[in-house]
Amino acid sequence: MNVDTLFSSFLHEISKSKTEKEVYKSLLKSLKAMLKYDSAIVMKNDEVVFFDPEKFDVSDYIDFMEWIKQRLLPAFFSDEEGYVGIIPIVKQGKMLGSIVVKTQKEPNNELMVLLQVFAFLTGITLENLILIEKIKNSEQFMFEVLNSINEGIFVLNKDGEIEFTNKFGKRILEKEDLEDYFNFFISDENNIFTKEFGGNYFTIVKTKFDFLGDEKYIIVFNNVTYEMELEKLKQLDKIKTEFVANISHELRTPLSAVKAYTETLLNMEIDPESQKEFLSIIYEQSERLESLLNDLLDFTLIDSGSMELEYSKFNICNVVDDVLKKLLSFAQKQDVKLEKECEDVEISADKRRIFQVIYNLVDNAIKFNDREKPERFVKILVKKLEDILIIEVEDNGIGIPKSEQEKIFEKFYKIDRSLTYEVPGTGMGLAIVKEIVRLHGGNIEVESEEKKGSIFRVNIPIRSE
Ligand code: ADP
Repeated sequence: MNVDTLFSSFLHEISKSKTEKEVYKSLLKSLKAMLKYDSAIVMKNDEVVFFDPEKFDVSDYIDFMEWIKQRLLPAFFSDEEGYVGIIPIVKQGKMLGSIVVKTQKEPNNELMVLLQVFAFLTGITLENLILIEKIKNSEQFMFEVLNSINEGIFVLNKDGEIEFTNKFGKRILEKEDLEDYFNFFISDENNIFTKEFGGNYFTIVKTKFDFLGDEKYIIVFNNVTYEMELEKLKQLDKIKTEFVANISHELRTPLSAVKAYTETLLNMEIDPESQKEFLSIIYEQSERLESLLNDLLDFTLIDSGSMELEYSKFNICNVVDDVLKKLLSFAQKQDVKLEKECEDVEISADKRRIFQVIYNLVDNAIKFNDREKPERFVKILVKKLEDILIIEVEDNGIGIPKSEQEKIFEKFYKIDRSLTYEVPGTGMGLAIVKEIVRLHGGNIEVESEEKKGSIFRVNIPIRSE
């Protein structure tokens, strides 16, 4: 076989080799053609790792092996059966292994050079295989790490197409189609987003990077539902503690007044006019106590879902008048003008509960008046729009900050205005109002601006029966 054919068949074989064993097999195939060996073995760290067709004892050549390790060149020795050749597989001055052959043919110089070249090429191929294995391992390692992260990781190209997703990300993709969101995330100027998907809340962080000249994005989805629930529970716990403190305070104030005035009446000589005044204070305060207890009771009914409505037919303006009559003296004390515009409408609803709704809204509207305004008013507007009854309570009071407007309907929620404005209240009123309106099939909304005033609007479908 000529050298060119040998070379090309060796290169062809070795380039197909995917394992160390295949590389050695390719080399042995070429050596067989060159040396017509009787037997060949492949040694690695003094151990035989491959042989063709059979193993043989190399203990007599151990000393030569050491010498070859230093020289890093092939060598042949003659013995009574023929020749033994040792061909080191070398890469960067290091012996990766060696081939020991038994042959009858003594190699000439040209063959020795050829052997060196083949051994060198084998060394390079082996080294490449080791490197590929290392890269595969580190790639595998990276995937394992990324897959064990409890955050969804997506790598996108500049068109928003996914180029990589870890396990957690795939789970999100199974439930949600994120294509439009990805396009939005990469085009938006912000780098942090919060979004809800299927009842879970995610903080989403976008990072732009450059990979070999291409623009890429890493989008990380962090599920923060648990933290949010925990935060909510903490908040609820705080609200409950505040509520207990608050309600105790709310109960104590009228109770102390009742006690003090009764004691005075019992123990002191008092003129009839003062007596009447004291008794009316006691009456007012016991009404306050009663209303607090009613709120508490309603609250338990709402909490257990057992509030029931008692329907009857009545004119809504009568209820509005009753409310205004009851709150007139409170409004006068606060120097708040009450105004009313009411369309006569017959409705079928729970009269006591509708009274409670309007009373609460008007009471709040008076309570949260703005002392800095010279003219203070509360306007009640009742009108019918098709088959919806609209009750609006408007004031020019202190208003409600935008961020609080949703929360005020939550149970026990009071806006913390302790530094600027302290008014009594338990934070139950609007939660009860909202539930009553809901039970009537309606809804309540608020429009408000700080320092300007508020409009609470109740919409209730009108039932004829
Ligand atoms: P409270 O018993 O404290 O009045 P509510 O549930 O009725 O409880 O109201 C919750 C909170 O909403 C109040 O503490 C108050 O800060 C705010 N609020 C309610 N109505 C008004 C209003 N008309 N103007 C300004 N703030 C209001």
